[in-house]
Amino acid sequence: MSLIRVGISSCLLGEPVRYDGRHKHDPFIITELGHFFELVGVCPEYESGMPVPRDPMQLVPSGNTPRLVVIRSGQDMTGQMHAFCKCRLAALAAENLCGFVLKSNSPSCGLSVGVYPGTGGTPASEGRGLFAAALAARFPEMPVVEERWLHEPAQCSLFIERVFRYCRHMQ
Ligand code: SF4
Repeated sequence: MSLIRVGISSCLLGEPVRYDGRHKHDPFIITELGHFFELVGVCPEYESGMPVPRDPMQLVPSGNTPRLVVIRSGQDMTGQMHAFCKCRLAALAAENLCGFVLKSNSPSCGLSVGVYPGTGGTPASEGRGLFAAALAARFPEMPVVEERWLHEPAQCSLFIERVFRYCRHMQ
């Protein structure tokens, strides 16, 4: 019998794809979810063609949806990320994912991230990382969480239950 598949930000799996060339390996989540699910890694920034290491980016305000901008140069990466999301989410739909764990505080993966009017400083508001926003729009019913919530055992159990329920609903 094939395992239920759950997507996860690749850096949480230990892949060194972050802007600084490092990872955010999360053994607790991998072990807990690994009992039940096959984890499918996705790194929107690396897979969309950005190098490792790379200059850090941030969200900046722009109408209703923030833009993804390189902090130092001001280069706008929004179009590149949107094009990647369209393609990759279509491919993920064919993989029948039943949940997704996203890395918090990332302008691509985070569900609630600071939106900065200038370089650094204090965020003016909160917004969704571009991949997280596209994922939620493409799969509105699918359970999606940031990894930080899963360190609370009750939240982790709840997420696992929601994934099983969503999976049954999809069959
Ligand atoms: S947070 Fe997302 S975009 Fe950033 S390194 Fe991890 S998987 Fe890649």
